[in-house]
Amino acid sequence: MKFKPANNIQDLQYFGEFGGVNPSISDSSTYTFLEAKTMFDTFEGNADGCYLYSRHTSPSNLYLGEALAAMEGTETANVAGSGMGAITPTILQICGQGDHLVSSRTIYGGTYAFLKNFTPRMGIETSFVDITKLDVVEAAINEHTKMIYCESVSNPLLEVADIKGLAALAKKYNLKLVVDNTFSPLSISPAQLGADVVIHSLTKFINGSSDTMGGVVCADADFINSQKSVIDGASMLLGASMDSLRSSSILKNMRTLHIRMKQHSKNAAYLADKFEADGLKTVYPGLKSHPSHKIFTEMMNEEYGYGGMLTIDAGSLEKANALMELMQERNLGYLAVSLGFYKTLFSAPGTSTSSEIPEEEQVEMGLTDGLIRFSIGLDNDIERTYEMMHACMKEVGVL
Ligand code: PLP
Repeated sequence: MKFKPANNIQDLQYFGEFGGVNPSISDSSTYTFLEAKTMFDTFEGNADGCYLYSRHTSPSNLYLGEALAAMEGTETANVAGSGMGAITPTILQICGQGDHLVSSRTIYGGTYAFLKNFTPRMGIETSFVDITKLDVVEAAINEHTKMIYCESVSNPLLEVADIKGLAALAKKYNLKLVVDNTFSPLSISPAQLGADVVIHSLTKFINGSSDTMGGVVCADADFINSQKSVIDGASMLLGASMDSLRSSSILKNMRTLHIRMKQHSKNAAYLADKFEADGLKTVYPGLKSHPSHKIFTEMMNEEYGYGGMLTIDAGSLEKANALMELMQERNLGYLAVSLGFYKTLFSAPGTSTSSEIPEEEQVEMGLTDGLIRFSIGLDNDIERTYEMMHACMKEVGVL
């Protein structure tokens, strides 16, 4: 049977304490016990349904985690205070002193900086590779390798990972395949394609209103419990927990995710077609010219489209900056990092979200100065938006 991520979310039914249509918010950092023994058992992980302390978990966080696990089709999930708060304890739970991992070289700049600059201090080494070449990924695996790390659709170059192919490699060498699915929620379901762990920054499309940070790790119960262990769990001990007020608001926003993703994808596909026809170097997984168009198409849950992210090359940083400033002045979007807002957001990754990546490496991976990354908004009249963007491009000499 076809995997239906939005149905899985909608099939969950929770009520508030007094029959409220939304679950009650657990506005407490700590929880009482009627008997001292139950507290001890809870510490030992032997008292199901009891809560101890909200850094470990809270009812509100469990509700949100359940919805995200249903979306990805994993056994369970654990939410975190930010995307990085999900990524870093996942890497540190799997890898320790002397271990090695193979990572895509085009990933979110913060993850790249963590693997390049921070984890070597703990004796963890990373090989950064072109993730679209399975032979290159395989050649980078050595006897110390514990994990393959990638993004389904990479930030900012929109490279697409062949998740089935990577999962086969992970299986062959007994590694964990960890996939950050932030750019393609609902469209791609990495766990259904063989990924062991699926991560999201909830800050982006899933919450969708750019008002909060959040993250999640979706995986089997063994892995999630190991991360939450009070003895040696990286999530519990590093402490990037989510606050219950926030998790309840993200859960409410998640209920419209399927509608939003369809509109983001529809608008981005429309603009990508137009920009390409105008002769702009345009990257969008939905375009036939995208090198991994076929792989995305094979992996996707069709009804959600190819996502809301696209890039164009404006030719130079000066032109990119002039275009972004003019588009903002005309209220076509905001010059801002991040993604998944109702309004279009644009930035030049080389000088913003990927600035952690040294310049020579940016050149090698094709991250040019004039690259503009767009997170396309929910505009009701995308034809009008295109006409106005086209006029801006002409005015600043991009077209
Ligand atoms: N993963 C991807 C693909 C991202 O784009 C980002 C942030 O931009 C993150 C993870 C980090 O998430 P957060 O900013 O919520 O920590």
